[in-house]
Amino acid sequence: MRTVYLNGEYLPETEARVSIFDRAFLMADGVYEVTSVLGGKLIDFEGHLKRLERSLNELDMQKPAAFDDLLEIHRELVRVNEIGDGLVYLQVTRGSDGDRDFVFPDPATTAPTLVLFTQSKPGLANSPQAEKGLKIISIDDVRWGRRDIKTVQLLYPSMGKMMAKKAGCDDAWMIEDGHVTEGTSNNAYIVRGNRIITRELSNDILHGITRAAVLRFAREAQMEVEERPFSIEEAKGADEAFVTSASAFVMPVVEIDGEGLGDGTPGPVAKRLREIYLEESLKKAI
Ligand code: PMP
Repeated sequence: MRTVYLNGEYLPETEARVSIFDRAFLMADGVYEVTSVLGGKLIDFEGHLKRLERSLNELDMQKPAAFDDLLEIHRELVRVNEIGDGLVYLQVTRGSDGDRDFVFPDPATTAPTLVLFTQSKPGLANSPQAEKGLKIISIDDVRWGRRDIKTVQLLYPSMGKMMAKKAGCDDAWMIEDGHVTEGTSNNAYIVRGNRIITRELSNDILHGITRAAVLRFAREAQMEVEERPFSIEEAKGADEAFVTSASAFVMPVVEIDGEGLGDGTPGPVAKRLREIYLEESLKKAI
């Protein structure tokens, strides 16, 4: 049985309890982060913590613990749960004031809820999916307008994954005003020659921590990076496509809406970026 963390305590997963009045349960009033673990070490931890702070600030939520304490909790959970490869999930909610009310509770009297748990994923970096590539479909993006905040409102992304599954595919890219915003749980890219194209940062997409690292590595490897919106038609005509996220790293896309890209196998740019990302991130893992 896993040991999880809840508001200052390490507990067996079956004993961790949160109020039915917790605002994340009633109103999706919470934010989260997912940090991957490779060889027992945390990948891009600082980036995830910085984004967490940003999400909390944007929603006027309290910081539940200091950076060093959060790092210590991550490490302790990885240790006690013997995680070699896997994920640490962290969630902060606005807490519970013992009733249901749209108005935010007073932070002086209502403490945030802090939950962390691990997921063991042996061989996370050697996923067979990376060899095969993803088949994706395109769907409308009907999410709210603050996708830059990593909230737990994941119903539509979850529905998107189900639409993909129903279509015999792996994931979905979302489209707004004729352009791809991002994947249901990842940032989206296309490749033309030596150029990587991905949508620029704004409130329309999550500012991926993996995205930031991958674009930096791409530039260092003399690839050209163009941050601009692209349409699904442009994506279908691209040489390659891929997605990035903390749990999938760099994952090639080989098919969009039933149309194969290139020769239908993962392209060289996505493969190379995956290797560089894994190698460089492992060097800096803590
Ligand atoms: N976009 C969305 C909508 C996501 O859910 C995620 C994964 N949390 C990402 C992008 C990728 O972000 P990151 O690289 O920080 O995991």
